[in-house]
Amino acid sequence: MSTAEPLFDTFGRLHDNLRISVTDRCNIRCFYCMPETGAEYVDRGEILTFEEIERMVRIAADLGVTKIRLTGGEPLVRKDLHVLIAALNRIPGIRDIALTTNGVLLAEQAQALHDAGLRRLNVHLDTLDRERFKQITRRDDLPRVLAGIEKAQALGFGPIKMNVVAVKNLIEPDIVPMARFGREHGIEIRYIEFMPLDHQSIWDRSRVLLMDTMLEMLRREIGPLEPVPDPDPRAPATEFRFTDGVGGVGFIASVSKPFCLNCNRLRLTSDGKLRYCLFAIDETDVKGLLRAGTLNDEAIAATIRQTVRDKWLGHEINTNRFVPPPRPMHSIGG
Ligand code: SAM
Ligand code: SF4
Repeated sequence: MSTAEPLFDTFGRLHDNLRISVTDRCNIRCFYCMPETGAEYVDRGEILTFEEIERMVRIAADLGVTKIRLTGGEPLVRKDLHVLIAALNRIPGIRDIALTTNGVLLAEQAQALHDAGLRRLNVHLDTLDRERFKQITRRDDLPRVLAGIEKAQALGFGPIKMNVVAVKNLIEPDIVPMARFGREHGIEIRYIEFMPLDHQSIWDRSRVLLMDTMLEMLRREIGPLEPVPDPDPRAPATEFRFTDGVGGVGFIASVSKPFCLNCNRLRLTSDGKLRYCLFAIDETDVKGLLRAGTLNDEAIAATIRQTVRDKWLGHEINTNRFVPPPRPMHSIGG
């Protein structure tokens, strides 16, 4: 239990959630996140070691962080990720560890991840159609992702959620089949409005498939949906359930309904930069402090506090003041 002052920002938002990118590398190439060829990666020596991540989490936990999400790049390409998860699970104060993955390596690692104590999974899958999967990810790995989900369910992971990136004029044929898949398998599908985080600046407002459009498609094709009562006000997803009692869907409507006012998240990039927002322009180096010696935990804690104090009210995607972050999604950590 933390005894330090909680991490409130200047707008009164409490920060108890740290998203950690464990690598900027990936084994597939989703077009809205990475270029097809020539992705730029940071040097391996710049990537935080497991020991450095663990130390960072201990310090953050002392400041009141209770929730960790591991992401990337593709976190499962980081060798022995389960070892890190087991270590984070032992840190006093950490109550909740989740993993966001593209699922390609999930079948082979699920057992070790489960043994390490991981239960919460978000598997990113936009389509159940093999050709469309290839078109989106430039890889032919749909069967591996489906095998990963099946294995995770058999092992008892839960809750499992699935992320679908909602790109207009592309993903419409997948909206309803994905929701049906979720209903059949007891998985909540989360539709994420396409955000301006791609490497090649292909984002345009007109390419965002909006939450209201998707809701209408789901209501028309599957049946009535109602808002989930008493939602967690700090969760980014707006959640709905089917009124027939079979499952539900969520929307991360970052573009049409930004949730910045409830944001409780900090981010640590794989090369040790602390960020207060996915869209932040500025970031603060903590790797230098982590590598400067073992006696400066206070300085690292002060950096975390300062990052929280510096946090802006929110991104301005919907204004002409918006400036995309200087790093692509895979490099920040989604
Ligand atoms: N590789 C893992 C994966 O794909 O889930 C973790 C990292 S990925 C950057 C994290 C999430 O970001 C993905 O699940 C995907 O849904 C989302 N994502 C990636 N690019 C996006 C974009 N341009 N707009 C909205 N969401 C995006
Ligand atoms: Fe890789 Fe995830 Fe980016 Fe797709 S969204 S390219 S799986 S990091």
